[in-house]
Amino acid sequence: LQNRRFLAGECIFREGDKGNIAYIIEKGLVEITTVVNDCPTVLNTLKEGEMFGELALVDGSPRSASAYAKTDVVLTVVTGEQVRSRIDDADPILKLLLIVVMKYFRLETGRLRNSKIDISTEDIEQKKQEYQSKIRQAIDLIRLESDLRNGFKRGELTLFYQPIINLKNNQIAGFEVLLRWFCHKRGHIAPDIFIPLAESTSLIIPIGEWILDQALDTIKKIKTITGKDIFLSINVAEKQISDGNFLPVLKEKINQSMVKPSQIKLEILERSLFEGEDALFLVEFCRDFGLPLVIDDFGTGYANLAYLKNFQFDTVKIDKCFVQNLDSNCKDQTICRALIDLSHGLNMTTVAEGIENEKQLDILLNLGCNFGQGYLFSPPVCLEDAIALLQI
Ligand code: C2E
Ligand code: CA
Ligand code: CA
Repeated sequence: LQNRRFLAGECIFREGDKGNIAYIIEKGLVEITTVVNDCPTVLNTLKEGEMFGELALVDGSPRSASAYAKTDVVLTVVTGEQVRSRIDDADPILKLLLIVVMKYFRLETGRLRNSKIDISTEDIEQKKQEYQSKIRQAIDLIRLESDLRNGFKRGELTLFYQPIINLKNNQIAGFEVLLRWFCHKRGHIAPDIFIPLAESTSLIIPIGEWILDQALDTIKKIKTITGKDIFLSINVAEKQISDGNFLPVLKEKINQSMVKPSQIKLEILERSLFEGEDALFLVEFCRDFGLPLVIDDFGTGYANLAYLKNFQFDTVKIDKCFVQNLDSNCKDQTICRALIDLSHGLNMTTVAEGIENEKQLDILLNLGCNFGQGYLFSPPVCLEDAIALLQI
């Protein structure tokens, strides 16, 4: 943040200028003016502590009014980057609504202007249509989110289980738990669509707790029916990690069940891991409690080797993008070999995901990979089918 000074009467910016900074008034008065019916008109007089020029930061369009120093003023500059990176990170629904509100605001100021600035009826019509299409997108997302909220209450979410095979003995060692949503109105919704939505709101928190309850029940059920102690690998979203309740609730639920902490593995995406203290806390908590941590999709994010050095994981999961062309692509083989050797050297086991054929499996076996997951063994299946697979 830097300060700028303007003398009384000086222009700070003009209507139509390209704007990439906003200002906070530290001292003095600022007039916001526009031209209405050929007449310069003061829209607003702003004082210390108020902000102006922020609209241009949000949608990058030209200044919709002019700003003049009414007295000598001192202003703090807010740069576009500061605002835009926050908007880029914002909840997608909020972002859409913000753009909608901005567009609407500009449309209305456009109407106020005289013919000099000349916003034609066509322009306004086009802007209106853009605005309406954005609003529809925002409304669609909001609807989908309400359907998900209600669907969760109505019991429309289910868990599927995909076997993770111990490649040494070809036995099922555990399953990855994968969330499914069959909406009574919309039918099957892909996880890639509804999970990011649940993650962008706080809905993933209650859903995550429900998944944990189900998973603990499943482990007990499997023990009762098959006599086997298997593990379940649960995907954990970034929102859950940064939620202060997640770990205490997890610990309490596991302690209340007869399940050993080592039977619940937490799969965490590399990219959601290392935003400061939350991650460190998580890693220490898991180590103390005996809960294995899996770093998911390793290599597709930052592939930050310092993570592997500084934090103890149980398992590295090799992303399916490295496995897919393993039989034809030498580079993928080199990457898999390096990942497996590195993991073993640092006392971690490896799981390769997305194994679809025998050739890929052979190569991974030769490279010494410990576990495998993919359509070659089984797609994700419902609980009954998962139990049946254990009884073969
Ligand atoms: P992921 O954690 O990388 O999950 C593996 C995905 O690969 C799953 O997709 C699985 O069905 C798919 N897959 C398994 N075997 C094969 C194969 O041989 N070939 C190919 N091409 N794909 C295979 P799915 O179930 O659509 O899940 C997508 C993503 O949604 C997951 O990616 C995970 O990031 C997220 N997700 C799923 N369930 C949960 C959940 O309970 N909580 C959270 N936070 N995220 C979840
Ligand atoms: Ca996963
Ligand atoms: Ca994965």
